[in-house]
Amino acid sequence: MKLRVLGCSGGELPRHRTTCFLVDGRLAIDAGALTASLPLDEILRVDDIVLTHSHFDHVKDVPLLSDLLVGRRKTPVRVHASTACARTLRESVFNDELWPDFTRIPTTRQPVIEIVPFDPEKPFKAGRYTVCPVPVCHPVESVGFVISDGKTSIAVSGDTGPTARFWSRVNEEKRLKALLVELSFPNELQGLADVSGHLTPQTLESELAKLERNGFPVLLYHLKPAYVAELRKELAALGLPNVRVLRRGDAFTF
Ligand SMILES: [Zn+2]
Ligand SMILES: [Zn+2]
Repeated sequence: MKLRVLGCSGGELPRHRTTCFLVDGRLAIDAGALTASLPLDEILRVDDIVLTHSHFDHVKDVPLLSDLLVGRRKTPVRVHASTACARTLRESVFNDELWPDFTRIPTTRQPVIEIVPFDPEKPFKAGRYTVCPVPVCHPVESVGFVISDGKTSIAVSGDTGPTARFWSRVNEEKRLKALLVELSFPNELQGLADVSGHLTPQTLESELAKLERNGFPVLLYHLKPAYVAELRKELAALGLPNVRVLRRGDAFTF
């Protein structure tokens, strides 16, 4: 399994793009940095997008991508979204006000995107991957994912504050090769992190203590660009083993 980091920040600035991971060039996990990162021929190879939740920094390239696909694809890109996220996309994005309804363009029979709702409690298939969503703690319906190609799996926390189920699901996954975990705010903003459903270095440390195994890399993402220096300092002070911050452009083969 190949993993490319197109965006791994909790906000956008030059050199910082929002959350977007590409698996084998075919499956995108969140859509925060597709259109700014990939040339059109590579965009046309993405058949499935799985979304952790409806927040703007994770879905923003779904509408921008749709516009590029008209006349370029025979089958729709499948946008897998939890029940609530699918509703938000339909009612608040593709509502012919904020953006045209590309689930009916160019024709209702052959649109460029299809919004495919998933039950946040049930595994589903996205292309050749099995995707297991796990509900996490964030102000809107949000999930983490364990994604497997049959040989290898990776786990992505999604945006979340302290949680239990994600860690017990990760502990069950014997073929796990990498764990991607959010980290958003420095310790001094603990109150903000708690109300907005995010982690700080101190809550990250207590979350990682719930892992029963190690031996795979723990890759951090979603750092708020305004606090990167502080976050790196606080992380370094913790000296957590196997933990590092992702960089945009990172590529891995697991
Ligand atoms: Zn976010
Ligand atoms: Zn969010």
